[in-house]
Amino acid sequence: MLGIRCLLACALVAGADLDKDRNLLGFCETADQDCHSHDDTVWDNKRQTNAARARLDVNSANHTHQLGSFRVSCKKLLEAFPVDEVDGNFVRTVKNCIFSKSTPTPLKGSLTLATVSKNVIEDILDLDVNAIQSDDFLQYASGSKLLPGSIPLAHRYGGHQFGYWAGQLGDGRAHFLGQYTNSKGEIWELQLKGSGKTPYSRSGDGRAVIRSSVREFLGSEAMHSLGIPTSRAASLIVSEEPVLRDQFYNGKVKKERGAVVLRLAKSWFRIGSLEILAQAGEIDLLRKMLDFVIAEHFPSVNMNDPDKYLVFFSMVVNETAHMIAQWMSVGFAHGVCNTDNFSLLSITIDYGPFGFMESYDPNFIPNTSDDEGRYRIGAQANVGLFNLEKLLGALGPVLTVKQLQGAKTVLKGFADLYQKRFHQIFKAKLGLRGDEEEDEYLIAYLLKMMEDTRSDFTMTFRQLSEASVQQLDSRDFTQMWALNDLSSHNLFSEWLSMYLLRHGRQDDDCDEDRQHRMKSVNPRYVVRNWMAESAIRKAEVNDFSEVELLYHVLTSPYITQETAEEAGYAARPPLWAQRLKVSCSS
Ligand code: AMP
Ligand code: MG
Repeated sequence: MLGIRCLLACALVAGADLDKDRNLLGFCETADQDCHSHDDTVWDNKRQTNAARARLDVNSANHTHQLGSFRVSCKKLLEAFPVDEVDGNFVRTVKNCIFSKSTPTPLKGSLTLATVSKNVIEDILDLDVNAIQSDDFLQYASGSKLLPGSIPLAHRYGGHQFGYWAGQLGDGRAHFLGQYTNSKGEIWELQLKGSGKTPYSRSGDGRAVIRSSVREFLGSEAMHSLGIPTSRAASLIVSEEPVLRDQFYNGKVKKERGAVVLRLAKSWFRIGSLEILAQAGEIDLLRKMLDFVIAEHFPSVNMNDPDKYLVFFSMVVNETAHMIAQWMSVGFAHGVCNTDNFSLLSITIDYGPFGFMESYDPNFIPNTSDDEGRYRIGAQANVGLFNLEKLLGALGPVLTVKQLQGAKTVLKGFADLYQKRFHQIFKAKLGLRGDEEEDEYLIAYLLKMMEDTRSDFTMTFRQLSEASVQQLDSRDFTQMWALNDLSSHNLFSEWLSMYLLRHGRQDDDCDEDRQHRMKSVNPRYVVRNWMAESAIRKAEVNDFSEVELLYHVLTSPYITQETAEEAGYAARPPLWAQRLKVSCSS
């Protein structure tokens, strides 16, 4: 029993010791003059009308705006922070500011609206889905035309990449467009990704390709529907602009096409946003940013509290622990957990080579560029801790000695916070109510069996939710492929007996309730690489039907859907899926 507990602790909770000997690995795309010098591009005005629009379920009655009255504001951020005194999208080291003014570079050739998130368009942007049928939307959401009120900005941030301080990074291919205050009073920051060069582009071309943009769009919307804090994606627009990428860093440079995602978050500030200010000794600005973030996003913190930064830190520690526990609960591996990709609001941001684990494996590495597995799924909690240490490092200059001590104590509590949340979530995944001493053991035992049998993470939990007690009792899993795999374990029957006995002790429970509870926390559909890949292959030849289908399926991941079943989204992954690789290249 102790052995299995220990295994859970090692594999998932605490993770292995951090490897500090890793090479710095940033983005390293091949930049080609032809595909990134288009400041004077005259883009093709012949915009495509696309079939996707026609297929959208139009319900205009509840939504307030047509696009004509939509506007954003940059006032709040521009009043709060100094802006780079230098103008222009040329690469440089930027000092003493939080943003640089930077205009998006329109993509070349005709643009196609590949897909939109109906939920974001309607529920966040208050727009009528009809509005997106306009040419204006295509232009606004691709960076060809500026939204009323927009003063586009690129954010200056730094970060620790793969364990090492990487210096200035910043929005190298993203443009903040402005804040939108919606009908619910929520303030959302709109940002384009893939919209051209900025002062932070370093050797990059400022672009994002179709495959990574499809993944960002689907990944963020899927995570939202799974109930996990995340940035959102409103739309995906693809272009004809050639973008060169060496996808697997093997010298095979391929011509792909540029795409832009219009994405949203309550704030895009990251740990790296504070780190760069501390590293540069810009302490007044560091204080200013902290005060802004706290006032805007941490309303429970009293701005007059002398310990406000410490309180803020402890809240970020808490929320980051929760976010990572939630990632683990759906088998999500972010792939590039650098401090510049860790939000101060503890939401999931910057979807790159992420992956949803299929066969259960604590060493699952979604990113083929992560040679040493620094960001393997089982290390995410530890990496989260590392990133929070870096956040604390950045707060150092504004904390007193006593507060610093307090913050270190808070950090020591991270593992505990994470474990508690992890335990709570996995108990819910198993439909367990109340607390029993053996619950931890039941969870660890199951995970160990899943690891030994390489059972599918998503479907094992889902099928445990869907199987009735009678089915479980009879141990007949011929119709349940994941449970069938799991049941090959020589200890499976013993575990199942314990599990059923545990349920039997829940007096006020019935099997229907248990199944219902479990089905509402164990998704049937996640973005498996093969699903995304299949949709991407079609998208690359301008067929967006599968991106759309996936979007619709993934917005209700807990509900069995006929179209999804027909597409095999809950079936055993096809053999070709095993050969798929996802790298940092995007
Ligand atoms: P990421 O790995 O996407 O989080 O990006 C890390 C850093 O590299 C950020 O500063 C990005 O803005 C920048 N970056 C990534 N790809 C590009 C690109 N194609 N052009 C310019 N900057 C990029
Ligand atoms: Mg990033």
